[in-house]
Amino acid sequence: MTHEVAVVPGDGIGTEVIPAATRVLRATPVDIEFVRAAAGDETRAETGEALPERTRQVAAAADATLFGAAGETAADVILPLREVVGSFANVRPARSYPGVDALAPATDIVFIRENTEGVYAGIESEIAEGVRTLTRVTTETACERIAEYGFSYAAQNGYDQVTVAHKANVMRRTDGLFLDAVQRVGERRGVSYETALMDALAMHLVMRPEEYGVVICPNLAGDVLSDLAAGLVGGLGLLPSANVGPDNALFEPVHGTAPDIAGEGLANPAAAILSASMLLEHLGHPETATRVGDAVKTVLAEGPTTPDLGGEATTDDVTDAVLAEMEMEL
Ligand code: ATP
Repeated sequence: MTHEVAVVPGDGIGTEVIPAATRVLRATPVDIEFVRAAAGDETRAETGEALPERTRQVAAAADATLFGAAGETAADVILPLREVVGSFANVRPARSYPGVDALAPATDIVFIRENTEGVYAGIESEIAEGVRTLTRVTTETACERIAEYGFSYAAQNGYDQVTVAHKANVMRRTDGLFLDAVQRVGERRGVSYETALMDALAMHLVMRPEEYGVVICPNLAGDVLSDLAAGLVGGLGLLPSANVGPDNALFEPVHGTAPDIAGEGLANPAAAILSASMLLEHLGHPETATRVGDAVKTVLAEGPTTPDLGGEATTDDVTDAVLAEMEMEL
């Protein structure tokens, strides 16, 4: 069976790490037809639109999308793209790897972030000169859906510890609704979990990350806490992510365009290749996904590594090493 995968590299290091990830996908026995599509700052400069209609259609029609990063136009690209694929859960694993000099070497946390509403719903207004407001959207349906997904993910992937991040002591109605929904789902499933105020949780994640497993979060909290966890495990070059919906999904490294290193060929491709591994799992090839993930782990442990991890290797050197490792495994 041939899978159709939309490839949207975007801007900055997206154009360096996504080709690395597609090279790895091509080296697997999985039959994939790649359809390349444009989005981002350069696309806007060329066409007037950051996310052309063709790209929307390609992503909607594909079995999955692999996305890189977009610069200034990020909100105009990734938010609608996540919508196009109907995703509601942003899955962000933050894991430390042997051989990587991490602040917290025993971290294995998966953030399950609601990604359709909250303060990222895009409802902002200027109600008077110098006074602007932001509307936070919280719906029972979306809260229950993310809770269901988070508890299922924990059960299916062997995580005993589930933490629900919130700030219901201040945002009483919106996060109150979120907590009530989580509680209903938890009771229905008969599972145990803990709740944590998101600010205190940020501190505990830094001090005792090894005590956490799956963390279910509203939109903004998930964005911030997963970047915090990236800092614990060795940086953004290591964090993959999936945006999952009922029938479709989009995979992307958590990092952005990294303008400070873009164009130098020095970006760490690990996050993008690990995102490709999550894509393989989504397409129904868990063994190949594991092999790709294992090859990345071996290269992270044995080198070569890019400068963000203290090495001198290029994106291509690391990708070549992953491919060589896969050849040994496949
Ligand atoms: P954007 O505005 O596109 O989000 P940014 O610089 O604010 O860009 P990131 O692109 O996520 O945010 O980068 C944050 C930092 O992490 C930068 O110093 C960048 O060089 C570094 N970084 C991010 N991704 C990688 C990577 N794949 N390899 C090496 N360093 C990375």
